[in-house]
Amino acid sequence: MNFSDLGLSPDILQAIQKANYEKPYPIQVEAIPAILQKRDLLGLAQTGSGKTAAYILPILEELQKSSIHKSRSVPVLIIVPTRELAAQVEEVIRMFGKFLPRKVKSNAVFGGVSINPQMIKLNGTDILVATPGRLLDLIARNAISISDLKTLVLDEADKVLNLGFKAELDEILSRLPKKRQNLLFSATMEDSVGQLIDRLLQNPVKIEV
Ligand code: AMP
Repeated sequence: MNFSDLGLSPDILQAIQKANYEKPYPIQVEAIPAILQKRDLLGLAQTGSGKTAAYILPILEELQKSSIHKSRSVPVLIIVPTRELAAQVEEVIRMFGKFLPRKVKSNAVFGGVSINPQMIKLNGTDILVATPGRLLDLIARNAISISDLKTLVLDEADKVLNLGFKAELDEILSRLPKKRQNLLFSATMEDSVGQLIDRLLQNPVKIEV
């Protein structure tokens, strides 16, 4: 199986080649076509499986079709448990993004640092990578809006819950539009994750690697 068998456009395939990814990992083989078809997805996968590129590549593909905007309304939100993962995911977005014709604006926001420098650069963001608490702060300050979101990714959902972000997550979910695509990744399937899956995902494609 090659990246060219997964339904990706020539622009994305070229970016993959320039990033020196030769063959898709198993999670990418399964997830990329499903995400391109706008399905909800449940990925049971650890770090190291290639899960980040599995969701970033089809998201970048979809964004290539959209026009550049300047609003506070973000189309793609990736919720992560930690600052480290936020930085890591954004790095993958930038790595592929620099090879693409339609420039993609991404931002990573997380707590533990001053909010002002994060606030001023959010207009026109295509992909926001955020930890839950800081995201809610930014929404409360009108720096970002998620009410027109198209795609939600919840990465390391088990860790988000284990770090005690359940209430924040509920608040975030209540602010999202009903019609959207949901992608959830978790390393484990504990009860709390199961409840979240039931609430969040509609007829998801399930992938376990
Ligand atoms: P992740 O599980 O998303 O943290 O990815 C683990 C590592 O695998 C990262 O360093 C990626 O850059 C790398 N990677 C992901 N997919 C591929 C691929 N198809 N070919 C080569 N490296 C990859």
